[in-house]
Amino acid sequence: MTAALPWDHLDINELGHLTIGGADTLALVEEYGTPLYAMSEEAIRENCRLYRRSMERFYQGRGMVAYASKAFCCKAMCTIAREEGLGLDVVSAGELYTARAAGFPMERVLFHGNNKTPEELAMALEYGVGRIVADNLTELGTLNAMAAARGVIAPVMLRIKPGVDAHTHSFIRTGQIDSKFGFALETGEALGAVKLALEAKSLRLTGLHCHIGSQIFEIEPFCHAVTVMLEFMGLICRETGTALAELNLGGGFGIRYIAENDPVPYDRYMEKISGVVKSCCTKLGFPEPFLILEPGRSIVGAAGLTLYRVGEVKVIPGVRTYVSVDGGMGDNPRYALYHADYTFTAAARAGEAKTQVVTVAGKCCESGDLLGENVPLQEVKPGEVLAVLATGAYNYSMASSYNRNPRPPVVLVGENGPRVIVRRESLEDLVANDMG
Ligand SMILES: *Cc1c(COP(=O)(O)O)cnc(C)c1O
Repeated sequence: MTAALPWDHLDINELGHLTIGGADTLALVEEYGTPLYAMSEEAIRENCRLYRRSMERFYQGRGMVAYASKAFCCKAMCTIAREEGLGLDVVSAGELYTARAAGFPMERVLFHGNNKTPEELAMALEYGVGRIVADNLTELGTLNAMAAARGVIAPVMLRIKPGVDAHTHSFIRTGQIDSKFGFALETGEALGAVKLALEAKSLRLTGLHCHIGSQIFEIEPFCHAVTVMLEFMGLICRETGTALAELNLGGGFGIRYIAENDPVPYDRYMEKISGVVKSCCTKLGFPEPFLILEPGRSIVGAAGLTLYRVGEVKVIPGVRTYVSVDGGMGDNPRYALYHADYTFTAAARAGEAKTQVVTVAGKCCESGDLLGENVPLQEVKPGEVLAVLATGAYNYSMASSYNRNPRPPVVLVGENGPRVIVRRESLEDLVANDMG
């Protein structure tokens, strides 16, 4: 065994091969082909448990950890979240349908989105989802009317922009006033919406929600958001006489993509956040709310990796070396979208020194179809297997079949070995909806 990698579920075996959840990645490729997503079931479940234990330990379990399914959504993942006692955050009819297909208990589902369609709202009411997180007045009006027409009361939370800057990439920063999501605090819009929701005959306002961004490594922005939100809940109580019972702080907890990333342990987040909740509530004379957290990336991100076959290695003297793989922006659009960092390694020689700096390119007909630039890598040859680490979140879920490259399968490595949880898209699948 060589030195372990800075991810618990990854290792290097006696052959020098990279392993995930104990499975040899080259054996996985042998069995399932490339490109291939592989995920460690134990790593996913352990993350679920760490969050739940933190909620128990630091907030006496008076809350719910809801997995944000947009990070990685399929029936098997919904089943894991259900079995681990988590809630589920969905943002579309498709995610909601997947949850139900997996038998997920609807009372633990939260339905998000800045522009839910009337059809999606109807589906949420029909399925009986536990909380619909309303984003705007149009939605509140539609939902109230729909619930009235059905003779039901819709449980809602309101998404608030707390105006917190989460020090992250502007594309994935959502808590500030210039955001398409939610009601602004500063302008009085949020208070107006709360009053409207409280007065609406067919809505039951359970509390407030905020989500300040993603891939956040600091605790401070969360503490600041808690303070802003609780002060607002105090104000609502004084203005309307209603003490809202629930506070949903969203997700956004950062993970390790590259060795330098240093994620905050969940316990530290939870300890700090619950401390701030308790002290704020004491100061405001406000009852401590039921807390909801919505981690997505931090449940599945580091638990997955992608395996590719290297094709051409194109050395352009004095310029750069392109290492081309048999996937790319179709299965991982995150570099093209936000220049996301990743760690690359030759799967067969994961312990060997990385002696060159390369650009890893996909096979799509786009110059921007890259997975990384100036990344260290071993001297790889055509035909070798390349692993990209920490691709469990926002890879499969963002995948497309651009250029009609079929989407890769997802293999979950569990106690009893690997099993396919999403099968490889076939060429027939690609034409299945084509008419004529
Ligand atoms: C995206 C999102 C999350 C999850 O964010 P992560 O960064 O993956 O933890 C949670 N809640 C809401 C409302 C979101 O939009």
